[in-house]
Amino acid sequence: MHCPYCRHTDTRVLDSRVAEDGTSIRRRRSCSDCEKRFTTVEAMQLTVVKRSGATEPFSREKAVGGVRKACKGRPVSDDDLARLGSQVEDTLRGSGWAEVPANEVGLAILGPLRELDEVAYLRFASVYRAFESADDFETEIAVLRAERSPTGTEPELVSPRQPRPQGGSSPPSGPTSGGPRDGTATT
Ligand SMILES: [Zn+2]
Repeated sequence: MHCPYCRHTDTRVLDSRVAEDGTSIRRRRSCSDCEKRFTTVEAMQLTVVKRSGATEPFSREKAVGGVRKACKGRPVSDDDLARLGSQVEDTLRGSGWAEVPANEVGLAILGPLRELDEVAYLRFASVYRAFESADDFETEIAVLRAERSPTGTEPELVSPRQPRPQGGSSPPSGPTSGGPRDGTATT
C-alpha cells in the first residue's frame, strides 16, 4: 500500500503485533520517502454466503441496515447501532470461519439487539424468523420475560409515583368543594 502522507509506494515494516484476540495483526510502518509513520491492520476477510450461494464481503453497515428499520421510533442512537455492528462482527469473527452463512449474521444480531431494545428486537425477530401470528409474538415475549434477569434493571415494573386516574371517571372532588360561600362573612 502507498504512504498515506506522500503516496509513495514503498514502506518499511517496523513492528508487527498480533491483536490480543488473535484475529488481526497491526503493523507499524515507515514511509521510505517522507519517513512518516503509520499503522496498518491486517484482518481476515469475512465473507457472507447468501442463500443463493453468492458471496459478498461482510459489511457492518449492511448488517446494521436491517436493524435500523426495526429501531425506528425507538430510543436507539447511531452510536448504539454502530456498537451493535461491531459486536456482530466480533461474534462472527470469533467463530473463526472465513465464510459465514447470511442467516448466521441475523442470529448474531438477535442477542445484542435484545439487550439494546426489546421492542426493536421483537420487530426484527418477527421479520427474521418470519412470525406468522400473534402467537409467535406471545411465545417470544414469554421467552424474554423468562430470561430477563431478576437483578437487572426493570424499567417498566417500577411503581409509578402517582397512581394514574382511570380514564373516563370524573376528576376526584376534594373535601372542600363547597365553594367560596363558606369564606364569605355574614354580618
Ligand atoms: Zn510518505
